[in-house]
Amino acid sequence: MSAVLVVNSGSSSFKYQLIDVDSRMPLASGLVERIGDPSTSSGTMGVAKHKVHFAASGDGSPTVTDATYVQELPIPDHAVGFAVMLDAFETHGPSLSEAPPVAVGHRVVHGGARFFEPTLITPLVEINIDELSVLAPLHNPGALQGIRAARAAFPELPHVAVFDTAFHQTLPPAAYTYAIDRELAEQHRIRRYGFHGTSHKFVSEAAAGFLGRPLEELKQIVFHLGNGASVTAIDGGRSVETSMGMTPLEGLVMGTRSGDIDPAVLFHLARRASLSIDDLDALLNKRSGILGLSGVGDMRDVEAGVDAGDPDATLAFEVYLHRLRAYAGSYLAQLGGVDVISFTAGVGENSARVRAGALDTLGFAGIEIDAARNEARGPGIRVISTDSSAVTVLVVPTNEELEIALQTLTVAAG
Ligand code: ADP
Repeated sequence: MSAVLVVNSGSSSFKYQLIDVDSRMPLASGLVERIGDPSTSSGTMGVAKHKVHFAASGDGSPTVTDATYVQELPIPDHAVGFAVMLDAFETHGPSLSEAPPVAVGHRVVHGGARFFEPTLITPLVEINIDELSVLAPLHNPGALQGIRAARAAFPELPHVAVFDTAFHQTLPPAAYTYAIDRELAEQHRIRRYGFHGTSHKFVSEAAAGFLGRPLEELKQIVFHLGNGASVTAIDGGRSVETSMGMTPLEGLVMGTRSGDIDPAVLFHLARRASLSIDDLDALLNKRSGILGLSGVGDMRDVEAGVDAGDPDATLAFEVYLHRLRAYAGSYLAQLGGVDVISFTAGVGENSARVRAGALDTLGFAGIEIDAARNEARGPGIRVISTDSSAVTVLVVPTNEELEIALQTLTVAAG
């Protein structure tokens, strides 16, 4: 059995999954959060959740347990967080000291123009990821804290960085270049990089596999709609256009991010409302999107508000759909047609109303959703277009952790 530990670390929390890459199943997963949180009177208090998915039964064969263990304790930094995680593995299983993983895979948001492939982490790679924090101040520092803690916890294992930007290395210059002063842009590495690449890659490959069609022949549009949201046009397996830009702020309306906005709004707010750069950053990244419009950041709450006739929720939902339709039409034009459209992530996999609304004006392009199929729920990949639709529309559950585990193993086996 080859197990890979996948770590997705932010500045105040990290998620992990131990994945058996032969069966492609998670053996255990967990979340360590509120790292360094000083909000409690007793000092820093963190929360660690550990879920065991499978345990060996009496005869040694795995049985599903899905038992979850939660503890609250001080977690001042990532190193302590990793010690708590290791302890949970030893106490609740599966024991990492008895059956260590073969490698550790790390999700890293920004690989800049430097990292196009999953990369074995060396001290020099760490320095480069740190240096890329200039482009991703909200994301790369947390990833680096996770990498350092994990390398200290598992010094003998290969550690591999898998970058969210990597899949978009194939964007043509016309798609990634902003129309601003070229010298300035080059000096400050200002261009579109694109994100959620691991998910867009996984979903587009899974869609081709599901349809039994060669990836190279397909024009695809993938909507990854979670708290963060992006859409990618994929031609023959290559990303050719994507909605996120130099940072994950551009593009679709998201849970708390504005997506596209006239940059002059920022000049105006700086001049007229005396907002600082940090105020504007927080406004657009943390207090905009559906949260800014409706007061709630969770799409389920927005839909409940729509049903209750709440005008703010209704407007938020309509703005959200309007942007999705604009991107769907744009990517149809960029690709010159499409064979498959897939929806993934929390909203994309669960909201029939969003899926229907995103495509409801595209009947003229041969895109027809079957209402009953769209409403039906179930695990795995499923078709939601009609049999006569010229374009196949799918719901494809994403699995970024599995994709990271598979890419990590390829590099570690190197
Ligand atoms: P993240 O970007 O944090 O990984 P997820 O992919 O988990 O996000 O998606 C989270 C989003 O999915 C939330 O906005 C949540 O409201 C939404 N979501 C989950 N289930 C449903 C549902 N049944 N209907 C509508 N939205 C849902």
